Amino acid sequence: MAEVLVYVDHVDGAVRKPTLELLTLARRIGEPVAVALGGGAADTAATLAEHGAVKVLTHEAAEYADYLVVPKVDALQAAVAAVSPAAVLVPSSAEGKEIAARLALRIGSGIITDAVDLEASDEGPVATQSVFAASFTTKTRVAKGTPVITVKPNSAAVEAAPAAGAVEALAVSFSALATGTKVTGRTPRESTGRPELTEAAIVVSGGRGVNGAENFAIIEALADSLGAAVGASRAAVDAGWYPHTNQVGQTGKSVSPQLYIANGISGAIQHRAGMQTSKTIVAVNKDPEAPIFDLVDYGVVGDLFDVVPQLTEEVKAR
Ligand code: FAD
Repeated sequence: MAEVLVYVDHVDGAVRKPTLELLTLARRIGEPVAVALGGGAADTAATLAEHGAVKVLTHEAAEYADYLVVPKVDALQAAVAAVSPAAVLVPSSAEGKEIAARLALRIGSGIITDAVDLEASDEGPVATQSVFAASFTTKTRVAKGTPVITVKPNSAAVEAAPAAGAVEALAVSFSALATGTKVTGRTPRESTGRPELTEAAIVVSGGRGVNGAENFAIIEALADSLGAAVGASRAAVDAGWYPHTNQVGQTGKSVSPQLYIANGISGAIQHRAGMQTSKTIVAVNKDPEAPIFDLVDYGVVGDLFDVVPQLTEEVKAR
């Protein structure tokens, strides 16, 4: 069976959930071989093996620190040369997409970004994408070289599938470019304690209907009762009510959670582009004609200032 390289996103050896989702998808198209780089790379092996990695290629070097992408591209290129995989899967983060694009260029192949599903075919892996502001769902296949595919978080379930997970050291020689960039400073963002927007299983969003920065407290209260991330429409972000880092949509982040709750959001195509692939969509809107209701699994016609606090209390009571 063909091997499929999976780029491991980890923090000091703790594997992040989108990588485990990639292992589920990788098993559909071949045997997953994980590539873990940087400090704690070897510590990822047990978790990766539990989720189906037949092999874990590791390389630890100071060059991988600080979110610099070129050293990681060098390492993945070395892994492609060593394994000749059927595909390379990378999580669809900002970093992952840059790594994937550079890798595809290096190895002279094609790239598919933001896939939401993967299936095997005789001609190679076929990716499902939601494109043109979610107006179309496409099936795409790379016709030349080793396909490099980035996959949106929450596109697949995390599944236990114990495998050998043999750890092997990857031989990497860094390119001149790898040392050409340096991080000169960093300002950590204050943590909200909430999950990362693009990785959260539940997202609770607010739009213009929230009517003020101070009112986002009721959106946050619902999010916290559910252990969810908070999202916002562009109208809310442009009004200065919530940070741009939380914007969902065409010019914001693309999310695909198990549950998306849109509050006071009309459902403009540009907003839908960032959340339409959510598994279950709930909307609270006082206008029964709001376009968001064309999209939802459950809709509540009502004033969010009545509905959302009641919902929060109900969730907390359970
Ligand atoms: P509105 O469209 O004004 O809707 C507010 C909704 O709240 C209404 O449906 C109203 O009935 C409801 N409401 C009001 N009060 C209450 C209440 N008390 N209780 C319940 N419901 C209430 N938008 C994005 O979101 N993300 C993007 O990334 C994005 N990118 C864009 C890119 C481009 C190039 C362009 C042109 C636009 C983009 N937009 C984006 C903007 C988009 O077109 C819409 O303007 C925006 O999504 C509207 O936000 P909204 O739904 O919060 O506001």
